[in-house]
Amino acid sequence: MRIGILDIDTKKEKMGHGKHEKFPNLACGKIFGYHMERGDEIVYPWKGERVDKLYISTIFSWSRQALERQMPYFKSRADEVVVGGTGADWRSKLPPEMENIGHQWTYDLYDIDYGIGFTIRGCHVGCSFCVVPRKEGLREYRVATVGELVNPRSNHLVLLNNNSLADIGFFEDVEEIRERGLTVNWNQANDITLVTDRHAEALASVKYYNFAKTSRMLHFSWDQMIKRKIDPATGQRVEYVMSKTVPEQIARLKAHGIPPHHLTFYMLIGFDTTLEEDMHRFRTLRELGCEVYAMQFRDLNGKNGVDGKGNPQLPHVRHLKKWVNGRGFKACSFEEFRPYMDEIERREKDQREQAAQTALDLFAV
Ligand code: SF4
Repeated sequence: MRIGILDIDTKKEKMGHGKHEKFPNLACGKIFGYHMERGDEIVYPWKGERVDKLYISTIFSWSRQALERQMPYFKSRADEVVVGGTGADWRSKLPPEMENIGHQWTYDLYDIDYGIGFTIRGCHVGCSFCVVPRKEGLREYRVATVGELVNPRSNHLVLLNNNSLADIGFFEDVEEIRERGLTVNWNQANDITLVTDRHAEALASVKYYNFAKTSRMLHFSWDQMIKRKIDPATGQRVEYVMSKTVPEQIARLKAHGIPPHHLTFYMLIGFDTTLEEDMHRFRTLRELGCEVYAMQFRDLNGKNGVDGKGNPQLPHVRHLKKWVNGRGFKACSFEEFRPYMDEIERREKDQREQAAQTALDLFAV
């Protein structure tokens, strides 16, 4: 059987690891392994070759429309087309016979020299803007050990867990990382509210790095001004005033030897916060010495430009993202950031013209 595999929106890696220089799509790696073990011929990366079966995996929901547009072409090149991935449908899952395929096949497909995968799935927090609790459930559970993810070609491990610090497995993972002498990149934003002295001590005891292992880095998030969740230990509803909690937790990490400049905070914008709240989060984190990466909200269907209630996002959002992530803040204040100023001037002009037109209409009556 001739099998085509297309990872339609897999990102190019900045540091260019692996033959295809891509961030590995784990589902494609498992599909690859499943068919290799059956002796099938694999065409990857698929570029339009005629195949018996074509697998298309999409991670991001904004790829859905492009995928639908190109579907007649895909169908003309394969007897069967299978589309999956969170971008196509967050409910989609691999069948168990594929899901249980070893990680080594992913490393072979992408020819990468680091281990990557999940030791823990799910997340107890349940943020309304996030697909993880819907897809994986409102609790964390073990899916692999660190040892199962190690790539024999290196000692670097990238963990994709959505909430690594949750009690299930975190301390065991850290112990195994230490014992095996691994370096680790916790690739997703961790929940800063979960950090206890024991967590801080454990984090400080391992060699944590960014994805490409070029700098020391831990990721956390500060997405909303108030964080609400059910405490997994007590089952009680808890609420964190993040402008108080975040600095306290940064100080806790620092006390255990993790300096603020090792911390990168993902900051959600355009969901339910105002410009003042966004600037407050940004300034607080920068003043404390942390890095900030702004994430612009998209709804769960991948729609851009709307907030958490489906209304148009505030005018500053897309410009703030550029100002923060493009490090425009090094050159000027946000109020002086030219694209933002242009947008404000344009809106004011539109308002003036609209008011003038309304006055003319009234006069005409
Ligand atoms: S803490 Fe992170 S993974 Fe968990 S629900 Fe919130 S955004 Fe999603």
